[in-house]
Amino acid sequence: MNQNLMQGIGMTSQRTRERLVERLLDQGVSNWEVLDVMRNTPRHIFLDEALSHRAYEDTALPIGFGQTLSQPYIVARMTEILLGAAGKLDKVLEVGTGSGYQTCVLAQLVGQVYSVERIKPLQEKARKRMRDLGLRNVMFKHADGGFGWPEKGPFNAILSAAAPQRMPPELLAQLAPDGVLVIPIGGEKQELHLVMREGDSDNFVTQILEPVKFVPLKPGLGNA
Ligand code: SAH
Repeated sequence: MNQNLMQGIGMTSQRTRERLVERLLDQGVSNWEVLDVMRNTPRHIFLDEALSHRAYEDTALPIGFGQTLSQPYIVARMTEILLGAAGKLDKVLEVGTGSGYQTCVLAQLVGQVYSVERIKPLQEKARKRMRDLGLRNVMFKHADGGFGWPEKGPFNAILSAAAPQRMPPELLAQLAPDGVLVIPIGGEKQELHLVMREGDSDNFVTQILEPVKFVPLKPGLGNA
């Protein structure tokens, strides 16, 4: 990708990203590693060109197929929760690749990212963006992420960007000892949950963190 396009000009520039980071600080995000990565990640390349001038607004934006690029605040929050709660971060599973923006933020902070998406064209665009950014520690799978990625597990952490109605037992089962799961749960009303596996036991401690609004976790493969 052309270097100017990557760094951004005008509304997609470094200064605009600095303002985004200031807003995140005001909203209570405090992990400097996360803020640094978001300061340096070009969010506009995760959107179609017609929308790229809006990339640094703190809103969810459409990426096609009825899906959205998550709001920067929620990407920052979920990432800082995950970093704060997990001990090791060698292997992280992401459910719902979407545009790949959250994937890209994670890939700069953890060892290996495994990302599952049920809509093939979204997955392909995300894969290309990762290549353009030179990130090599991400593996993609086209599948129903509600079942995780058992062949690659267990994972130190799992992050879901889509909301199931109930806690998926398959994801809990793929947590490594002391592993953590950050996931929105619910329908019309959703809440962000943090689940921690206690050592290598089958005991899980759950904290309900804050109300959120995610797209639903849908069953099977699809195009919408
Ligand atoms: N963090 C992403 C969020 C995308 S929205 C971004 O910022 O772009 C959530 C994504 O989850 C959508 O792309 C949707 O297709 C996907 N999704 C929904 N149900 C899924 C499932 N069962 N398995 C895998 N992906 C799923």
